[in-house]
Amino acid sequence: MMLNVADKTDTQVRAKRFDIEKIRADFPILSRRVHGKPLVYLDSAASAQRPTAVLDAVDRFYRTHNANIHRGVHLLSQEATEAYEGARDTLTRFVGAASRREVIFTRGTTESVNLVAQSFVRPRVGPGDEILITHMEHHSNIVPWQIVCEQTGASLKVVPMTAAGELDLKAYRQLLNDSVKLLAVGHISNALGTINPVAEMTALAKQYDIPVLIDGAQAAPHMPIDVNAIGCDFYCLSGHKMYGPTGIGILWGKESLLDAMPPYQGGGEMIQYVSFEETLYNELPGKFEAGTPNIAGAVGLGAAADYLTAVGHDGIIAHENELLAYATESLTAIAGLRLVGTAAHKASVISFAIDGIHPHDLGTIIDHDGIAIRTGHHCAMPVMQFFGLPATARASLGLYNTREDIDRLVPALEKARKMLL
Ligand code: PLP
Repeated sequence: MMLNVADKTDTQVRAKRFDIEKIRADFPILSRRVHGKPLVYLDSAASAQRPTAVLDAVDRFYRTHNANIHRGVHLLSQEATEAYEGARDTLTRFVGAASRREVIFTRGTTESVNLVAQSFVRPRVGPGDEILITHMEHHSNIVPWQIVCEQTGASLKVVPMTAAGELDLKAYRQLLNDSVKLLAVGHISNALGTINPVAEMTALAKQYDIPVLIDGAQAAPHMPIDVNAIGCDFYCLSGHKMYGPTGIGILWGKESLLDAMPPYQGGGEMIQYVSFEETLYNELPGKFEAGTPNIAGAVGLGAAADYLTAVGHDGIIAHENELLAYATESLTAIAGLRLVGTAAHKASVISFAIDGIHPHDLGTIIDHDGIAIRTGHHCAMPVMQFFGLPATARASLGLYNTREDIDRLVPALEKARKMLL
């Protein structure tokens, strides 16, 4: 897991251009104290913190432009519409979509997956058909498919994983066949940090004309997203994982597929004409945005995407990789600590267990040192079942974390271990 010298030099040179002090200053919450100690925030995979650029965009929207969007003749409504639709344009560029019609604002990844499950997959499957997911999915990329299977008689198939927490690609190839009507796979596992080879998996699925949905909730904060390069049909992400607001995210889908899909919810905005005899649905993307959306959330999400682009993905990747290597080396020096998830390609998400200690106890004790980690099943119970653990502790690193954060985490864990054993 350690970088070799050549990698290190290159990483340090590139990381230098990434000004960590300036980045940290962008996040006001990082300067607060928790239980009297400076905050060390290592829970970004659950929800990342927001930079001033996002806070200001949301604040500015409410203070100066707030009104309901679309069809308003007054100036505020027009400004609000511009801000909301401008955010759609930003997200269109952020994921490399061909058209803004392909970008649907949702509440987040969970709603995006449910939308595809009910509107795309449910009408297309029946007994004998299969929906393929993987063993390392978040519950929000498992349960919507189980519901569709219950509703239609289709069956759920699961790509197994290895002890390192990598997908078994040989088994994956064997699971592909003409009965599979959808592959749904996470880009990065929130419980293990594994970066899955989604482009390669999509190419294999396409040999059987299988539509592919990627759960990008954990990828969006860490790497550039290019839906064309992946070759998938649907891509889902959540604002709050990528330094934006909660309650907002997107579903990207290929226009031809979205066009042919029935609406997911009915209500205002998703119609062109309503009478008691018939209703004509709106065009994309409005067809899938029933009701008043989270307008300020979309504006904040646009600001978050702009922020990530301005910081630059090269710098973020170099910084987080260097930190991941440092954290991995430092944590494995703790007696009795076992990493859960040791894939060759990992994002800066580190799950671990310490022999004889429940992760909740660890998390509670180090919280008193001002250190926020997550403990539990991480909404990925099948991953816990695979490793025979009730829970893990998870330190997830964002672009604002530092070696100093790790240097606070490790002694705090060592101290907690001594207290608990
Ligand atoms: N998928 C993954 C991999 C996640 O980590 C999460 C959140 O933890 C989700 C989906 C669900 O995201 P949200 O709760 O924002 O809908």
